[in-house]
Amino acid sequence: MEKLIITVAPTGSGTPLSKNPNLAITPKQIAKEVFECYQAGASIAHIHVREEDGSRSMSFEKFKETVERIRDKCDIIINLTTSGMEFSDEIRLKPLTLKPDMASFNAGSMNFGSGIFINSFDFMKKLAKTMDENNVKPEIEIYDSAMIRNCQFLKEEGYLKDPLHYQFVLGVKGGMAATAKNLLFLKEHIEDNATWSAFGTGAGSVPISSMAIHLGGHTRVGMEDNIYIKKDVLVERNVEFVDRIRRMAEEVERPVANVNEACKILKLRGQGV
Ligand code: ZN
Repeated sequence: MEKLIITVAPTGSGTPLSKNPNLAITPKQIAKEVFECYQAGASIAHIHVREEDGSRSMSFEKFKETVERIRDKCDIIINLTTSGMEFSDEIRLKPLTLKPDMASFNAGSMNFGSGIFINSFDFMKKLAKTMDENNVKPEIEIYDSAMIRNCQFLKEEGYLKDPLHYQFVLGVKGGMAATAKNLLFLKEHIEDNATWSAFGTGAGSVPISSMAIHLGGHTRVGMEDNIYIKKDVLVERNVEFVDRIRRMAEEVERPVANVNEACKILKLRGQGV
């Protein structure tokens, strides 16, 4: 098996501070969380930004400051969100001009909690094209099996190119549930040369991450997906999650990848091509 790539998603877009006051909000706080996780073994940081009051944001200036602060501290692989529910296509695409190593590529439309998350084929084509122009590797987020099929259409038309990297997101209301059967189903329906990662939200976090470790996938942890370190106990710092995953992986002799190794596995920064 390849070494395990741990992604940290420190903040996310939507969880309010009232649910966990430890959420990082400012670029400085986000960069601090990322650096601690990097030191503990995370090799990718999946970044959202927030307004000062903690509300949803796709502020280009905040992305820029966050990326600069992270790059000042370490060489962790930067993965920016393009999800930006409620924001215009242009606002969603603009962070890509910061040329992150990777960015999320949401592979279809769906209900998402109480909202509707729109990713039409037209938008996905624009997204793929802008990523290509900025040399950004898509992290293809799969919430439902039909999204894998969407990627096949986009590949046939030349918008996505092998080898793809998938992130299976299980447990969101509107997407597939965080179960072992669903994870296996998704894993069995992607290309042999693809790489994949998986995580479950909330109580699905530990079960899905541990299955991903055993099945040869990679995984993601962080307050974007889960705000409890154990039942009824709020997590204080993202590094608690990273430490736990690293310990779990080491216990079953699946070593954790450093940034350089993760770049080779994902063919980033000109490596492995
Ligand atoms: Zn995200």
